[in-house]
Amino acid sequence: SPVIGVLALQGDAREHLAALDGAGAQARSVRRPEELAAVEGLVIPGGESTTISKLATAFGLLEPLRDRVRAGLPVYGSCAGMIMLADKILDPRSGQETVGGIDMIVRRNAFGRQNESFEAAVEVAGIPGGPVEGVFIRAPWVESLGARAESIAEHGGHTVAVRQGNLLATAFHPELTGDHRVHALFADMVRAAR
Ligand code: GLN
Repeated sequence: SPVIGVLALQGDAREHLAALDGAGAQARSVRRPEELAAVEGLVIPGGESTTISKLATAFGLLEPLRDRVRAGLPVYGSCAGMIMLADKILDPRSGQETVGGIDMIVRRNAFGRQNESFEAAVEVAGIPGGPVEGVFIRAPWVESLGARAESIAEHGGHTVAVRQGNLLATAFHPELTGDHRVHALFADMVRAAR
């Protein structure tokens, strides 16, 4: 089974480790460049994207991450992780960098304060067996999508999941639901990239 890391600088890394386990992957946390070098795929969890960005820089991981994404490493970003995979953020905080790789512009906290948290059934292209329960927590949406990226799910007229090559991103948090289909899709992407 594929060895998949979870970037464990900040955010809900533990839930992703459990979901990857449930999807049949060998999950391990990644905090150091040597740990990043040892994985075949990586999850960037939800949390706070500015904090993850600053810690990735402080831990010497930002450039190695960019290098591996350029070299084709499969990466799945959830919520703050989706923001980290965006080539561009609409309103970045000062000092906020992304790893990039997906040809898209994301809007942070897009669903607004009134709806800081909600759940919705989301149909995801490539995931059979009915909609997944999308947990949205101060979630971003995709403001605009470049030609190389593909929208695989929408909610309220906005793209909330994207695929581009070996990269996958969701605005929502499947790791909180006990449904491991998104992680299983990602594990398949990792196997296919071998
Ligand atoms: N709003 C957060 C951010 O901008 C993301 C929230 C989340 O990951 N649940 O990073």
